[in-house]
Amino acid sequence: MRLAVIGGVAAGLSAASRARRLDRSLEILVLEKGPTISYAACGLPYYIEGRVDSTRDLIVYTPEHFRRERNIEVRTGAEVAFIHHSRRELSLTGGERVRYDHLVIATGARPKRAGIEGADLPHVFTLHTLTDAVRLREFIRNERPRRAAVIGAGYIGIEAAEALRTQGLAVTLIESSESVLNRADRELTETLRRHLERSRIDLRLNMRISEIESGRAGDVPADLVVLSAGLMPNVEIAAEAGIQLGRTGAIEVSDRMETSLPGVYAAGDCAETTHLITGRPVYIPLGTTANKMGRIAGANAAGGRERFPGVVGTSIVRVCGLAVATTGLSAAEAKREGFDPVSARIEARDRAPYFWPAWTTVELVADRRTHRLLGGTIIGERDAAGRVNVIASALTSRMTIDDLENLDLAYAPPYAPVWDPLLVAAQQLHKLLD
Ligand code: FAD
Repeated sequence: MRLAVIGGVAAGLSAASRARRLDRSLEILVLEKGPTISYAACGLPYYIEGRVDSTRDLIVYTPEHFRRERNIEVRTGAEVAFIHHSRRELSLTGGERVRYDHLVIATGARPKRAGIEGADLPHVFTLHTLTDAVRLREFIRNERPRRAAVIGAGYIGIEAAEALRTQGLAVTLIESSESVLNRADRELTETLRRHLERSRIDLRLNMRISEIESGRAGDVPADLVVLSAGLMPNVEIAAEAGIQLGRTGAIEVSDRMETSLPGVYAAGDCAETTHLITGRPVYIPLGTTANKMGRIAGANAAGGRERFPGVVGTSIVRVCGLAVATTGLSAAEAKREGFDPVSARIEARDRAPYFWPAWTTVELVADRRTHRLLGGTIIGERDAAGRVNVIASALTSRMTIDDLENLDLAYAPPYAPVWDPLLVAAQQLHKLLD
């Protein structure tokens, strides 16, 4: 029996590794079209800013490692052009055919070009693959650009803007909508706009760029442009094979990560998942989810019966020294989803007052009628991951604001105040709900 996996990064290699753990006798073949496998895309901004010295530091495992340690065959430069599922066969670019019994599609996503004319010019970059990052860093070193425009203020755009600023460029961050981080939250956007300004990154909201020329992006002067206007799932070979796509445009999967073709699984940035608060399909392409989805797809492709319930949409990003973490729904999003949201935003000290505290902002959103917690945001210099993870856990177990208010959270002066900022926010929100 042979398991073929298309795509050799987070989801594909998690699937292959998990399948191997559950079935020692399965033949496993991973096909990756690019030159490198198993690299940390999440580390690319830190390579651009210079904190990570070499791309070697971002490569986790090599094909040799997989062959030697896990008995998994990994081929690079192997692009799957067609899936002939009735024959259980893949055609590679170049004509070679590869047979399979089970298949995992983990083809990831690619940056949107957003219909921008001039997106192919030599001073325009995306920050998606290791090759992209190497090209961008070489351009900075060789051409010494002074002004950069970053198009798209999602988390990758913000990370790219900060990295370029660290490299000494004047940076304009351009966003076509009225909010940053794809989160309908005016206060968050305003807080980040002020913070970016202090770091001398010029954020322009509601600005749509339709054309890039040499020396400018729209009206913004730029010797270098980074396109980070969102992602498109790589679904073409799946769609051509007759696999059902979801409303989000990504591959529709069951909670076992199975596609509409029995025995064919999909995982990672090419697939959609379920939002645990709304119960609806969502497309939230993140590495943490790709690894989990891949694990489940691999287990089930090897004969297991495991499920991936979905996500609450937790993420965290560094914005010029400040951690910004969000999970669940913002108040505006909750309203769109038919809830009656009430929110409270507080600022509180993150340590005992005599232990050099810093300020942390916490916002919580809950439903007026049921008191069910719907979302939260943490902005602070420290501990944002820990606090947002508490909210994510509370969302996953469908806690109410009353439950959160009484959570037994840790306290000792060097680490947290006696009333953790999360508890202060929960109390504040409770008052508004009563
Ligand atoms: P990918 O990593 O895109 O891998 C898919 C692979 O499939 C690619 O290598 C591609 O070449 C290959 N492929 C596609 N089509 C074919 C084909 N036809 N034949 C053969 N091979 C094919 N996530 C977080 O959770 N936290 C972060 O902080 C974070 N930071 C990020 C920063 C940056 C700059 C970027 C770019 C991403 C970041 N992510 C982060 C997202 C995370 O890296 C992705 O969600 C994750 O890599 C997705 O894994 P994947 O395996 O689904 O897809």
